[in-house]
Amino acid sequence: MSRRPRGRWAPTPSGWIHVGNARTALVVWLSVRSRGGSLIWRLEDLDPPRALSGAADAAIFDLQWLGLDWDEGPALGGPHAPYIQSLRYEFYELALRQLAGSGRLFPCGRTRRELKDLTMAPHGSYGPSTAPYPTAWRPQILAPDWYERYLLGAENSSNSSTVDALRFRVHDQPVTFRDGLQSDITERVDQTVGDFVLKRRDGLYAYQLAVVVDDIAMDIDEVIRGVDLLDSTARQIQLIEALGGEVPRYVHLPMVLNADGEKLSKRDGGLTLRSLRDAGVVPEELVGYLAFSLGLLDRPVPCGPRELLDAFDVSRIRLEDWRLPENLAEHLLT
Ligand code: GLU
Repeated sequence: MSRRPRGRWAPTPSGWIHVGNARTALVVWLSVRSRGGSLIWRLEDLDPPRALSGAADAAIFDLQWLGLDWDEGPALGGPHAPYIQSLRYEFYELALRQLAGSGRLFPCGRTRRELKDLTMAPHGSYGPSTAPYPTAWRPQILAPDWYERYLLGAENSSNSSTVDALRFRVHDQPVTFRDGLQSDITERVDQTVGDFVLKRRDGLYAYQLAVVVDDIAMDIDEVIRGVDLLDSTARQIQLIEALGGEVPRYVHLPMVLNADGEKLSKRDGGLTLRSLRDAGVVPEELVGYLAFSLGLLDRPVPCGPRELLDAFDVSRIRLEDWRLPENLAEHLLT
């Protein structure tokens, strides 16, 4: 039986929405609306110190300005509320307990330094990478009540350096998946990253855990996001399977780069939706431009998201990264 179409947009509130975020949101919206499905907005605020005050509300305003709508989310509520990760810790704890029960979780007192010392020589064009977590570092034996004891210890400890992190015990089989845009991927997670952290020593839940638990709980059937997250996907698939969830379809979009060819960051203040709006850009100009950059329009003509629905097909999206012009607002206004 095929699943109900449910897509999600999951911004981290660490900055103002920029054209790259908006482009992803547009594709998520087009895909789910063209399939007659529901769009879920989830706020990924797992790391409170990185959150920018007001960013979550501003993101809602920005996307509405662009002409997008959604069915469930922080302000709207819905059957899977709350849609704010900092209010969902109990779900992450339940998942950790489940993994502990099935032998897929273990405590780890190793420091980042120890793992760094294992770093392999640089390879490929991406520079040095960290060695996978060695299987020899897994605890040989775990007492049946180790997890209860861990919880008690963590509760009573005021010093995070005495609390262990929790790691997911990966298997040694290849993970293969077919991306909606990228070529087929096969990864041996035990050889690339090894057992990865699900809860840090300071008590923060890892992105990998939260995203998987929430995608399962919210019954997401399609994950659309930037290609910069492609290398998390095999890890997430292993985790979904260990938790008994259904693996969604993945679509990893090419990146939007600034005029210098770099990934957009906070330094690209002129590329936020709020600054484009302040400069006098109207949403249809931006939507038309984004659709053109994706290969969904032959020319960057102004249009609303709804006008793109009929012809929308994920496979039409061009695979190359998109480099923005020096002054996007000026470019859009002339
Ligand atoms: N919260 C992540 C981000 O803003 C997206 C996570 C995901 O789509 O899996 O980059």
